Amino acid sequence: MSYVFEPVRTAALPVAGSSDEYPVRRVYCVGRNYAAHAREMGSDPDREPPFFFCKPNDRESVVAVRANEIIDLPYPSKTSDYHYEVELVVAIGKGGQNIRPEDAESHIFGYTVGLDMTRRDLQAQMKAGGRPWEIGKAFDYSAPIGELHRISETGALSDAAIELSVNGETKQSSNISHLTWSVAETLAQLSELFTLHPGDLIFTGTPEGVGAVVKGDTIRAKIEGLTGITVCVK
Ligand code: MN
Repeated sequence: MSYVFEPVRTAALPVAGSSDEYPVRRVYCVGRNYAAHAREMGSDPDREPPFFFCKPNDRESVVAVRANEIIDLPYPSKTSDYHYEVELVVAIGKGGQNIRPEDAESHIFGYTVGLDMTRRDLQAQMKAGGRPWEIGKAFDYSAPIGELHRISETGALSDAAIELSVNGETKQSSNISHLTWSVAETLAQLSELFTLHPGDLIFTGTPEGVGAVVKGDTIRAKIEGLTGITVCVK
């Protein structure tokens, strides 16, 4: 047997402090997981169960951003409201299903910083029509992600500042302790819907302060204790 064309190589993320790379299997994202962001998006921040969507796992969508590197993000087509969302990204190291929150930590490989880039106008149209969000969320270059830090290095993260600036001006500033659903609770609920495997990434949601960027803007995203990322909209 031979393939009729070369299979695409999976996206991979650098692991901080080594030459190893973490191969990406799936990219799950949580919607509305900070109360203040739920409010700014016009929702009631009650503690309804988290909901999930996915981004593609290919190298066109997942863009690995190394330390001290600035990646160009092409301004996407069909939008005039291109938004940033800084998020803590959790990388799964051990798979499982129906994982209990108290066991979640043992399934985590590590953490990094990600941008859930969003065509907000298209997402809003799809929301209004009760349609899927893919065209607003799952386009090329929609998931810039930084270097992974092993949980053995960071410990379980539950309290860390999360920040994003555009051209040096702070736009998002919160703490992951404000997550509506903690990392452990999110992982547990996701694992009831999908069997998790090593290589799965989970974008855990963005705090308040999302907004639009235009060509020429430089976005810097960071989480306390992790390597930050810098991207430039072209
Ligand atoms: Mn998001």
